[in-house]
Amino acid sequence: MHMSVLRFAIRNCYLAVVFLVLVFIAAYYPSRATASVKAGEARKSASGEIVEVAQAPTIPDSDTRNQAVLKLARGQSLSGLLTSADYSAAVVFDVVDSLGQVLDMKRILAGQEVLVRSSREGWIEEVELKVSFDRTVRTKYDGDDWLIEEDITNTYSIPTLSIATIETSLFEAARSNKVPAPVVMRAIELFSFNVDFQRDIKPGDKLITLYEKIYSHDNKYMIAGDLIYARLETDAKNVEFWQYTRLDGETDYYELDGRSVQRTLLKTPVDSVRISSGFGYRKIPTLNFEGLHRGIDFAVRSGTPVMAAGDGRVLIAGWHNTYGLRVKLSHANHYDTMYAHFSKIAAGVYAGAPVSQGQVIGYVGSTGLSTGPHCHYEVHYYGTPVNPTKLQFPPEHQLDSEDIVVLNSKIAALSNHFGL
Ligand SMILES: [Zn+2]
Repeated sequence: MHMSVLRFAIRNCYLAVVFLVLVFIAAYYPSRATASVKAGEARKSASGEIVEVAQAPTIPDSDTRNQAVLKLARGQSLSGLLTSADYSAAVVFDVVDSLGQVLDMKRILAGQEVLVRSSREGWIEEVELKVSFDRTVRTKYDGDDWLIEEDITNTYSIPTLSIATIETSLFEAARSNKVPAPVVMRAIELFSFNVDFQRDIKPGDKLITLYEKIYSHDNKYMIAGDLIYARLETDAKNVEFWQYTRLDGETDYYELDGRSVQRTLLKTPVDSVRISSGFGYRKIPTLNFEGLHRGIDFAVRSGTPVMAAGDGRVLIAGWHNTYGLRVKLSHANHYDTMYAHFSKIAAGVYAGAPVSQGQVIGYVGSTGLSTGPHCHYEVHYYGTPVNPTKLQFPPEHQLDSEDIVVLNSKIAALSNHFGL
């Protein structure tokens, strides 16, 4: 006990002397002092990705530490990354074990930066991961155990309104109005249940979005938050929806009457961000739902992913002389959908396989009797082709009356405040 106290005092004394000497040197030889602080030695990792190795010169004991930023490669685990950087396997095990208390290791993605501080001898002393814009997690060795620390940035959000007029495309309109890309993509994804992007949108149409901007407590803009509300005003119709957290705690998007935006089938089964970022309406494919043509066509570049319009099961996946490579799915409530002229059918799509809404089932092509790359899309109801542009698919969920009351009061408050 006495010995450790003594050691502590001696060490502090030593540090104080070192500090005073540094201050002295800095005062009299500022340039030399800077030069005399050696940059930390970089440890070579297998991936060779070391971003920063500089050391802070002002902390007295910092010259005993190295600092390296490693980057997680695709398919690499945190322990794999640290081991490949030559740190001891036993220490790596402890570090990962410690971080595993607060982090779901499966959710750490490729590209994640990992800051490693180590002693001059190469022993890890601290490992830090900034896992999200507002959360940093680190584990520190206290000489005996690995201790977890978390920095959480306090944030607040400000709802921001954007009213964009579509000139070239929906995506373009929103982006030129500085709506963050994730917000635009979310809106497009939700509109794709009710809007046929290739036929419903024209120049002059309006896109109104209300979304959160998240700021740190010291007023720095950090990141785009949730989409709160979106409205698409077109000649034919207005489509609008609100984000709403139900009384049972689930958050989803709803229309005024309490129907969820999500439908059992998608109106646009082709990657709608691609359609809406292109010039879809300029070359409107022939909308002919007469005679022998029993579906609608989406003209998009070859290779564009095509998604299952709804949950269901694969009925047919293969070659047909007219339809080329085509996939037919069966869904609940006696609906079937068919997609034709694929360049390629996606892996895992074969007769009998289950599919989920939004799953990629194939890629646009021009196989079979086709004049150019497009996706031919058919919807069958009780085995008979029906016109998907005229269909109103049932909602996935309908709010009950209590929730509708709460939703409406929220809508009234926001509409009033933002003049929606
Ligand atoms: Zn067609």
